[in-house]
Amino acid sequence: MSIYTPNQKSIAESIQPDSGMQDWKNWHWQLRRTIKDIKTFEEVLGISFTPEERRQLEMTAEKFPIAITPYYASLIDRENWRDDPVFRQAFPSVNELITENWEMSDPLSEDIDSPAECITHRYPDRVLFHVSNMCAMYCRHCTRKRKVGDRDFIPDRDTLEKGLAYIRKTPEVRDVLISGGDPLMLTDSAIEWILDELSAIEHVEVIRIGTRMPVVLPYRVTEELAELLGSYPNLWLNTHFNHPREITDSSAAALRRLTSAGVPLGNQSVLLAGVNDCPYIMKKLVQKLVSNRVRPYYLYQCDLSEGLSHFRTPVGKGIEIIEALRGHTSGFAVPVYVIDAPGGGGKIPVSPNYVVSWSTNKVILRNYEGVICSYKEPDSYEPVFCDRNCETCSLVLNVTGEENPAAIGIERLMADYDDKITLVPEDTERLRRRNDDG
Ligand SMILES: *Cc1c(COP(=O)(O)O)cnc(C)c1O
Repeated sequence: MSIYTPNQKSIAESIQPDSGMQDWKNWHWQLRRTIKDIKTFEEVLGISFTPEERRQLEMTAEKFPIAITPYYASLIDRENWRDDPVFRQAFPSVNELITENWEMSDPLSEDIDSPAECITHRYPDRVLFHVSNMCAMYCRHCTRKRKVGDRDFIPDRDTLEKGLAYIRKTPEVRDVLISGGDPLMLTDSAIEWILDELSAIEHVEVIRIGTRMPVVLPYRVTEELAELLGSYPNLWLNTHFNHPREITDSSAAALRRLTSAGVPLGNQSVLLAGVNDCPYIMKKLVQKLVSNRVRPYYLYQCDLSEGLSHFRTPVGKGIEIIEALRGHTSGFAVPVYVIDAPGGGGKIPVSPNYVVSWSTNKVILRNYEGVICSYKEPDSYEPVFCDRNCETCSLVLNVTGEENPAAIGIERLMADYDDKITLVPEDTERLRRRNDDG
């Protein structure tokens, strides 16, 4: 069954007269025919920019290159393309040339937190493994805009081996996120090789793939690829839908191939001004996702990468969206709204406040409707003192110290066995005065 939309037919016809439609669902064809310049885009979509617009867009595309798959371009509404959420994510805006003074090329310090080539190691037990610098579509809101279109980083096996070597020799890494670029730009056999290598490492318990293919090129998710991914029992896949319009018959079919093969799916969205900064759009999106067996995972505040100022919303917009979801729709359709902290602080969740007040044995809470209620805490609660010695504890756990590394951060302040009572920034006037005195 293949019913094509009028847009798909006309784009296929424009790219390859008479025979484009035959190849439409071939992902190699889609990649070969990726739209990379403004003129082709105008021809294919049957739209035109003014000469001045074209001049400015050329300048933008020179700094941040264009790549749009014919499939993704076919989702643009030609009648109202300027406001179209797909157009805005795929096509450059002259606003990308604006650089605000707090923007950075690498706001998440991914290149600094890199102990080995292709690896970002930030959290205690998991790493990012960048296996490809290529993407089918260059998202205009890419946080790694600095790298988009780089020719000098298409890792070969020797380079990937360095990342694998780091994972092998770092036993605390139990979760590997295969990222990029888009990992599914690699061939099936390259993907299989990476997954086999990772699977052979005893301490790697979980493997995740982050990919936008189900959104921008769903034909990449072939039966064979889905079967391959489904054959790894500890593999998860996260994709990146931002707008309900992106969930088409083709993308739903790709998702179904993955879930049928047994791959659990999550979704990470980015909050983007003019694209999805609306509680109703986000509600529609998360509901469509769960009805396709995709669990909304994160909603990201737009990063401070260069050229993204026109996409950024105030943080309050994200909180407003979560407020409109929690309680109003299925709990497991509500993503966690996070700000990926500039400077490598990692993802920090931000949420509406539900705890209104607290007394010694009552918590006062409010629900999504504004109902205020009290929850009575137990009158007697015998805290279990934890000295990290499970053998003397009545809770039946029996983990060893090795499995259970000592607490860090706020968890450490709370730990019974650690007498640390403050976390103090290293570099303060107050501490300098102390040092001077002493
Ligand atoms: C997002 C991210 C992870 C994974 O974080 P989770 O909260 O476990 O999904 C790991 N490493 C880096 C550098 C990240 O940015």
